[in-house]
Amino acid sequence: MTPASLTRLAVAGVAALGIAAFSVGTASAAPAAKPHKPATSVPVRLLTINDLHGNLEPPTGSGGRIVDETGQTVDAGGAAYLATHLKQLSDKNTLLVAAGDLIGASPLLSAAYHDEPTVALLDKLGLKTSAVGNHEFDEGITELRRIMNGGCHPVDGCSPAGRWKGTSFDFLGANVLEEGSGKYALPPFYIKKINGVKVGFIGLVTQTTPSIVTAAGIKGLQFTEEVAAANKVSKLLAKEGVKAQVVLVHEGDNITPGQSPDACPVVPGAGSRIAANLDPQIDLVISGHSHQAYICKIKDPAGQDRYYTQGSSFGRVITQIDFQVDRKTHDVIRSSVVADNHVVTRTVTPDPETAAYVQTWKDRVSTVANKPIGTITANIGRDASGVGESPLGDLIADAQLEATKTGGNAEIALMNPGGVRADLTYAQSGSEGDGVVTYGEAFTVQPFNNLMQVVTLTGAQLKALLEQQWTASGTKVLLPSASLTYTADLTKPIGSRVSDIKINGTAVTDAQQIRVAANNFLVGGGDGFTVFTQGTNLWSGPLDIDAFVAYLGAHSPIAPPAANRITFVK
Ligand SMILES: [Zn+2]
Repeated sequence: MTPASLTRLAVAGVAALGIAAFSVGTASAAPAAKPHKPATSVPVRLLTINDLHGNLEPPTGSGGRIVDETGQTVDAGGAAYLATHLKQLSDKNTLLVAAGDLIGASPLLSAAYHDEPTVALLDKLGLKTSAVGNHEFDEGITELRRIMNGGCHPVDGCSPAGRWKGTSFDFLGANVLEEGSGKYALPPFYIKKINGVKVGFIGLVTQTTPSIVTAAGIKGLQFTEEVAAANKVSKLLAKEGVKAQVVLVHEGDNITPGQSPDACPVVPGAGSRIAANLDPQIDLVISGHSHQAYICKIKDPAGQDRYYTQGSSFGRVITQIDFQVDRKTHDVIRSSVVADNHVVTRTVTPDPETAAYVQTWKDRVSTVANKPIGTITANIGRDASGVGESPLGDLIADAQLEATKTGGNAEIALMNPGGVRADLTYAQSGSEGDGVVTYGEAFTVQPFNNLMQVVTLTGAQLKALLEQQWTASGTKVLLPSASLTYTADLTKPIGSRVSDIKINGTAVTDAQQIRVAANNFLVGGGDGFTVFTQGTNLWSGPLDIDAFVAYLGAHSPIAPPAANRITFVK
């Protein structure tokens, strides 16, 4: 090399070196230029998923559709399709990792066996590690440890598959500490050696977990701020020579609906805050929790581009991330990183082995799942965004009121939008429409096994509670039973939007004592509805799923409620 060309290289700078290094990595895909000396860097491919929520069967309704890269809405998801896509996208440099909520809030097929069917399949598909999600705590840390370490369920015993062996992967929680001792409650990181280099994975879960998981599930645990927790582990890994670092974080942002899965703009929230502030030593931020698909680049604190991605939910998207690790520095060459979201379409041949596996569990659960419990006259949908009223949310509130009237003297019921997990569809996928709702379908809508509760609130407290639906950080509209009507004026400032509250047509006074039914998650102050915790005379009733099933049975055929209990002024 002449001095002149050396100078040119220096001017071209780091970018040129980065591109050169990257072209070495893609040489196998395009049989072009031979590297003239041994590669100075090695390729790594990550395939990532998040928020699978035990969806082994193809999810139905809006949860089984997604906007693809061409702007078309297509059917997506299902473990057998996921397996096929994973195989097609895998090469010898591939690691499968995840960003949490793989289990919990699952369809009956998985939930009936404490999600063992899902984690066993993920193990089979080669999952190496995952961040822990808030839903992994739904049944508590002891149960999560059983899932990882093995042993049969202490109450329900062994599943039909026999003694539970545990998983070969761990759920990571670098910001999950044991209260008191301050020890890590879960492994904080995972190191994988691939192609002679080490890649470190740091797992994080949203620090808001205590406010979105039932209190019993997170008892004795402390959830600390994500960035500080990750940076601490990052320093430790770097000291040990693990410079290629990936954060798997179960927290994310929202997007504009209808956006391509490969697009970036996100509504800046907790996810981008974390992505922007993590130590520059961390090379990738793979997120979850908000069930959105995006591929973003956000500047790290050193001013370098760093990818920040998410792959929707329910197994509808796989994120592929390719990069080169420098053999000398052991670090990721940032300019080599390329990320792409792939929709898990159902136009491919489903993986036969996975399909057979899912069928086995389907057969096992069928006697419970296929039991008809009622009928509907049309699709009854939810509002997954949580910003408005929805027919299905209203129906659930009506069911909850009916189940708590007698024992708890409830007058109204309020349901959290996040707890309505799927639409009720007139036609099940693959069968013609008959409007029959099975236990399995009802369970998919209400999978949490929450207890129904009733507390007394004053009229003033009820107003304050309803005002908590709108906060600076977002909107969560509670679904009201038919007995409750009010006006929500969205043109007014937060905190003074609710007026004209009526119960069965009669205006509510501030001093009035009202029996309010809700699930134990809300009554415990979940989703930020702290006014619920001021309630008195607590009464506990049946499970929410039992209330829903009983109502469907007693009132069939059920037409979609009109969703006109709240009068919105916009
Ligand atoms: Zn989550």
